Parts: sequence; C-alpha cells; structure tokens
Amino acid sequence: MKVIKFGGASVKDADTIKNIPGILKNYPNEKLVIILSAMGKTTNALELLVEAFYNSQPDTIDHFDQIKQYHLNITKDLFENPEHPVYSELNLLFKELETKITKGKDKAFDANRSFNFIYDQIVSFGEMFSTKLVSYYLDDTGFSNNWFDVRKLIKTDNSFREGKVDWKRTENLIKNNVTPILSSGKYILTQGFIASNLKGESVTLGREGSDFTASIFASVLDADEVILWKDVPGLMNADPKDFKETKMINQISYGETIELAFYGVKVIHPKTIKPLQNKKIPLKIKSFLSPGDIGSLIHTETHHDSQLPLFIFKQDQILLSISPKDFSFMAEENLHFIFGLFAQYKIKINMMQNSAISFSVCVDKKDSLEELIKNLKKNYMVKYNEDLELITIRHYTKEAIDKVKKDRYILLEQRSRSTIQLVVK
Ligand code: ASP
Repeated sequence: MKVIKFGGASVKDADTIKNIPGILKNYPNEKLVIILSAMGKTTNALELLVEAFYNSQPDTIDHFDQIKQYHLNITKDLFENPEHPVYSELNLLFKELETKITKGKDKAFDANRSFNFIYDQIVSFGEMFSTKLVSYYLDDTGFSNNWFDVRKLIKTDNSFREGKVDWKRTENLIKNNVTPILSSGKYILTQGFIASNLKGESVTLGREGSDFTASIFASVLDADEVILWKDVPGLMNADPKDFKETKMINQISYGETIELAFYGVKVIHPKTIKPLQNKKIPLKIKSFLSPGDIGSLIHTETHHDSQLPLFIFKQDQILLSISPKDFSFMAEENLHFIFGLFAQYKIKINMMQNSAISFSVCVDKKDSLEELIKNLKKNYMVKYNEDLELITIRHYTKEAIDKVKKDRYILLEQRSRSTIQLVVK
C-alpha cells in the first residue's frame, strides 16, 4: 500500500481539486491512504481567527465569515446540486466552529483555557473542511473512499500545538480500524496535521505537520512508499526565492534530509523522516503541477546527487551576545543556566559560539525572546543585533562560499567538514 499526501496548494481551489482524480489514476489496484492538508492558506486564516477570538476583537466573526465563504465558493464550483449532502455536512462543521468562537456558547472555551488549547480546537477545522469536501468529490468521480476523523486514530499527549505521538495507542487504532477497510478495496481519506489527546480534544502536530501524519500512517502500515504532492518540483539545492540558479535534487538520503530540515529547509516537516528511515520506506516529493516529472526521492542512498552544495537562508535572525556581569568564564555552569532558559522559553538556537567571557547565539525573532532577554539580564550583559540573515551551506565549496559572501557583512562564521554557517547583514 502507499500513503499519499496533498498539501494546501494542491487543494487550494476547485481546479486543483479536479486534478486529484487524474493523479489517483496513476495508482491502479493500489491500496491508498490519502492525507489532506487544509485548503490553500486556510490554516493562516484560522490562526488570525484564533487571535481575534482570544483578544475578543470585534472582527472575530468577519474572520470566520471569510473562511466559511472561501470554502462555500469552492463547494459551489464542485457540486452544482444544492441538495448535495456535502452542504449539510459542511454546515454542521461551520456551526460547530461558530459556536466555539461565540463567547458564552461553549463552556470549554470560557473556562479560561490556555491559548495553545484554544488554537488547536479552532485551527483543526481547516483539515476537517478540506477532507469532507474532497471525500465527496472523489466519491462522485468514482474514487470511493472512507472518510476518517484522524483524531480517532492518532493519539498524543497534552502538548497542544506540538503533540507528541503515543505510538503504541496510535498503532493499535490504525491497525484495527484502517487495515480492514483497505483490504476491502476502499481508499482511506483523512486529515493531516491534527490528532487528539486521551480526552478526545484536538491536538495539532506543529505547522506543516501533514507530512508527519503521512509518515505515521506509512510507518504503522508498512507502506511501500509515501508520496507528498506539493506545488514545488521537489527538493531543490536552494529556495528559488533566495537564489537564481537552483538545481533539483533527484535523490537524497534520509540523514541528509533530516539535516536540511534541521537547518531550516521548509519543503518537509522535520519529524517526517525518522519513522520512514526506521522502516526504510522511500519518500517521494512530486509536483501536482507536472505529475509526470520524477521529483525527489528520499531513501537510503548515502549521497545526494554529486554532493551538490545545498544552501539554506534564514531571515529575521537575531544575534545575542551574552557575557557574565562578574566577568567569570563562560564555562559549564554559566552555559548550563543559559541553555536552561532557552529550553524554558522554547527558543531554538540556530547557531552558537563561545569565547572565554562571551557566548553568542543566533535565534529566530520570536515574541518570547523579550522575556528571555529580561531574565538573562539579571546575571548577564546582553547585546543584540537584529534583522540578520543566517546562511547555511552543506557540502560547501570555495565558489559557493564566495557567492554568498559577496556584498554581505559577516558577523559570525563557523565551519565543520560538511557545513558552513554565516550570520550576515
Ligand atoms: N494545514 C497545516 C499547515 O498549514 C498543516 C499542513 O498543511 O501540513 O501548517
């Protein structure tokens, strides 16, 4: 069997949804689990709705209406018959969401729950809408499928917005519920990105988490392969937004892909690879815009194409320089305390370097950074530079370094045998 995932861009409007049957025809007589993201930029729109609701903004309902209208417009393009059951099913979901964002109507929301809890209960609707709609569309076009609420299959702890998967429970639930239906010849269609805790409350797996969902299903069901359908041709050696002469990577190892995701490549969710690597399940990234192209294959091969230099650019970086007020050395005790604070505020260090009396770290710009700096300032002098860029080159060459250094001011540089990182202005 195979697991295939369609990302937000591949279900962003009626035309892209109409492409899906054509893609499914490429897998005749194959058992398929189909995972869907929310349509287009729905998750971003739902995030704005969460903010509005949380801050009791008067325009909360407008955010809701926009999301509802966007989905209804696409539904009308796909289903001419106004009596089609898709309308009543979607309306039930709209009602449910509207109740949640209307103060006083849903007790769970008024009980002063955390922002992250509320976020997950609201944002999870994006995938519910998309799967309901596409499931009916595929049924009508001859691709009979069984729609599942994935929250009954993937269980996590209570870490809202970054759920940790309870693999034992998840494995049992998927095997008991999904395997018999696949054997009966029906496709499975379900949501990416969302899951639930033991109480049944929605818990999301982190932004862009649908790739990870595909990998969970593939790992539990021992899939032959996973195919992620995206709006990019595959993995590139740099983001075309940052670089003119980008090249496709046709083959790459699991390990190298994990490194790329760690350094900030956005094409793939970082948690996706490990479960696949453990079971040696190949992962393909393909473009729904040109389904005939080969795309990228991530598998056990040790080297990617001819060790092409791979470039990762991260904007909005801040470089902090931290030194003890008492001029003690920046050794284990100080570092222990500082790392503890970064962990507490959930701020990921993208690059670090220390000297005798100073410790420099490059981090993403984030709201919680201000609090962290305030806390650090109790014991340390903290200087910082904003609006910087962090450039990482894997498998660098002199030519590759010269190319990125040109016209840039370097604040910090660090290299190992395989990777160079530069913090630049
Ligand atoms: N819809 C979610 C997001 O935009 C998850 C995903 O698409 O992978 O982050």
